[in-house]
Amino acid sequence: MSNSTCIGRFAPSPSGELHFGSLIAALGSYLSARAQHGQWLVRIEDIDPPREMPGAASAILRQLEHYGLHWDGEVLWQSTRHAAYREALAWLQQHRQSYFCTCTRSRIQQTGGFYDGHCRDLHRGPQQAALRLRQHAPVYQFQDRLRGILVAQRQLAEEDFIIHRRDGLFAYNLAVVVDDHFQGVTEIVRGADLIEPTVRQIALYQQFGWPVPAYLHLPLALDQQGNKLSKQNHAPALPAGDARPVLVQALRFLGQPVAEGWRDEPLETLLQRAVTTWDSSLIPQESALKGDEATTAFSNGSQQAMISR
Ligand code: GLU
Ligand code: ZN
Repeated sequence: MSNSTCIGRFAPSPSGELHFGSLIAALGSYLSARAQHGQWLVRIEDIDPPREMPGAASAILRQLEHYGLHWDGEVLWQSTRHAAYREALAWLQQHRQSYFCTCTRSRIQQTGGFYDGHCRDLHRGPQQAALRLRQHAPVYQFQDRLRGILVAQRQLAEEDFIIHRRDGLFAYNLAVVVDDHFQGVTEIVRGADLIEPTVRQIALYQQFGWPVPAYLHLPLALDQQGNKLSKQNHAPALPAGDARPVLVQALRFLGQPVAEGWRDEPLETLLQRAVTTWDSSLIPQESALKGDEATTAFSNGSQQAMISR
């Protein structure tokens, strides 16, 4: 049975191999989509070459397969999508929904860290300029399927954020919205580190006149110091051996039941069972240490109802 109304996705940046933290986002989005008999897509977000690691994208895809997370259709590579991003930018410009900005980072820091719209009506040209969204209807809050209504700090919601960088790269917020719309994504399940940009992404959907997907932000896996597991913090890559113990750890991290006899069953059975029993209301909201310590979840202060930075 396939329900064409649910399309989920996992959208890793190829800055390194998958670690336990990225497995949580992959597994959570996979199980949620599969539990609704929906599709699960994979998109490689390779729009920032300086931050990429050679070979990471193919390693990520191999890791997903090794962990039994098989995607539908073809992988979408953001590096092949430049024409679509340019077209989206051109549309915004034609509709006066963007403007060039030449302000420096230090000027923005001096005015409190949020951009104050200085160049909005200065008719700057494209030389040495970033392109910003002219926000017509800022989004101040959104409904998260796990966390309820999340309210954003006013300056964060209202900021005319960058959609095309001064260095010529397309901004993450632009590419993610253009591609999620293009792929027909209806449900975005990802880590809580991406709560902050969500109000901006919703504003962008609305300025394009596109339907807004549902959002669910998963708890983050933290290291012993309370930092998000990341490449910068030297999170180890997922082990290459038996995937099942790590998946069991990830399922427990997500508050999901694990059948006693999982050691006697193949990976496919473990995953199929997890799809059948998936219950998003069991996911803990708070970020926690990975592994067995996950049961003693603690708050690191990043999970307030208020979105701020
Ligand atoms: N590529 C982003 C990352 O790896 C995720 C984008 C998203 O899920 O919206 O952090
Ligand atoms: Zn400016």
